[in-house]
Amino acid sequence: MVGISSLEGTLFATAKPCPLCGGKPQPYDTKKKLYVILKTPTGRKKIMVNIRRFKCKKCGNLIYAEEPFYPDTRLGSAIVDMAISLARLHSYSHTAEIMKALGIEIDRGSVRNYALSNLPIPPANFLYGMQLPNSFISLMTKEISGSKGSVSSGEILASSGYPSGYKPPLDGKNTSAEFQKQKKRKNKQ
Ligand SMILES: [Zn+2]
Repeated sequence: MVGISSLEGTLFATAKPCPLCGGKPQPYDTKKKLYVILKTPTGRKKIMVNIRRFKCKKCGNLIYAEEPFYPDTRLGSAIVDMAISLARLHSYSHTAEIMKALGIEIDRGSVRNYALSNLPIPPANFLYGMQLPNSFISLMTKEISGSKGSVSSGEILASSGYPSGYKPPLDGKNTSAEFQKQKKRKNKQ
């Protein structure tokens, strides 16, 4: 998983104006956040990214930089996309097994939570016989085509679809939860 490990240490430091009052964000501090744990030949490796936090100049509201995470999720968005994408065709436990075989630490319960959430079905392509999300594929190919550390935070956000700004549709359409409900219904027929 070379592509994912190139995220290590990337700083995300771009914030939008304050969502409460439209005020200007001023840098406040930087938090480390776990993107994923990889299993490598030399052991477990935590991939950490740095997220800058800002305070609104006008109202003091705490604002996070745009980050490669969906709201209220623990793992990086390309990893979540992968779980959701693989769970379209495979069971939750098989999805976890496939991801583990690729060196990504994840359990069945997490796969299930993501698959049954109101997160979107990510656009995907078949690669190595697996339905992989484009977000993940583009992280992989960026690393292969460039030198180490060449992936910028802007590129990561763009190829991830700016996940921290995601708002679930009110009607639940095109979410993973809706897809899984239909899959269950079809399997019963
Ligand atoms: Zn404000």
